[in-house]
Amino acid sequence: PQLANQIAAGEVVERPASVVKELLENSLDSGADRIELDIEQGGVKLIRLRDNGGGIGKGDLSLALSRHATSKITALEDLEAVGSLGFRGEALASISSVSRLTLTSRPLDQDNAWAVSAQGRDMTADVVPAAHPPGTTVEVRDLFFNTPARRKFLKTEKTEFRHLEEVVKRLALSCYGVGFTLRHNGKAVHQLRPAETESAREQRLAQLLGKGFVNESVALDVVAEASGLRLWGWMGLPTFSRAQADQQYFFVNGRVIRDKVVTHAVRQAYQDVLFHGRHPAYVLYLELDPALVDVNVHPTKHEVRFRESRLVHDFIFRTLYRVIADLRP
Ligand code: ADP
Ligand code: MG
Repeated sequence: PQLANQIAAGEVVERPASVVKELLENSLDSGADRIELDIEQGGVKLIRLRDNGGGIGKGDLSLALSRHATSKITALEDLEAVGSLGFRGEALASISSVSRLTLTSRPLDQDNAWAVSAQGRDMTADVVPAAHPPGTTVEVRDLFFNTPARRKFLKTEKTEFRHLEEVVKRLALSCYGVGFTLRHNGKAVHQLRPAETESAREQRLAQLLGKGFVNESVALDVVAEASGLRLWGWMGLPTFSRAQADQQYFFVNGRVIRDKVVTHAVRQAYQDVLFHGRHPAYVLYLELDPALVDVNVHPTKHEVRFRESRLVHDFIFRTLYRVIADLRP
């Protein structure tokens, strides 16, 4: 099984940022609303995530590190309407095959915490007692210590951290109810309290994207009665357009995506007001019936396929175009 894990790891674990993404998704799936991340050396030396979610019972700890041990699919039909972020049951197994991983957890109804560890191919079967409040901590040390070829492909500490921070940003922009702390080499980089109100959400936006974005954007929330599509979020004003496409966030049912249909619709809405070579900034959320969208086109899940792409395209285009038209004097 270890060899299979290492092969699978090639798919999921590319760099520290991919580890962080998987760990964050697990925490969110577990219902956590506080997540703390400690990173050292861009994540290569250490990624430690602590959450206050549902935890893993003593009996399931070792299982959580084994391949295809997902607790998230109970029936085949679940595959049709996957609500949770992860569901393939191989992230922890893959990560532990290329690092030194310790999983410590305590469900609310358990008096003590327990921990399991794995060092690359060697998984210690022992479950040992540990001290931990309700919730889970995953500690990933020395990423790729046993796969030097993969390690060689890593960029500088700064670059790896930038990728990792981007992952945190995306999730922080899709889960306003969750508090996030991100520290790098002992220094706080982001401290985001749960944001329940509109103004708290805008405060989070300002922390993540800068005050300029919040000041130079329009909030919108539009529902198409007939199709049930909803588009909400913030559109940067044309004056806030950028030379780089680095502030474009589009979420479909809470998941960040890159999609040609979406990009085209947004660009088209802005096209009359943007100078050549400028990119609009936006943080937009599309919500629709999960049956109308395929999310598992690719394992990293950044892609979607709309069942009615024309409808989606036109709704996004028209909604944004109207907002822009209203801005004209
Ligand atoms: P998947 O998320 O696809 O099920 P993973 O390998 O990411 O697979 O996780 C395996 C299992 O470990 C999960 O199904 C879940 O039961 C458990 N698990 C992992 N992380 C956490 C966490 N932070 N809190 C609670 N349970 C967790
Ligand atoms: Mg997972």
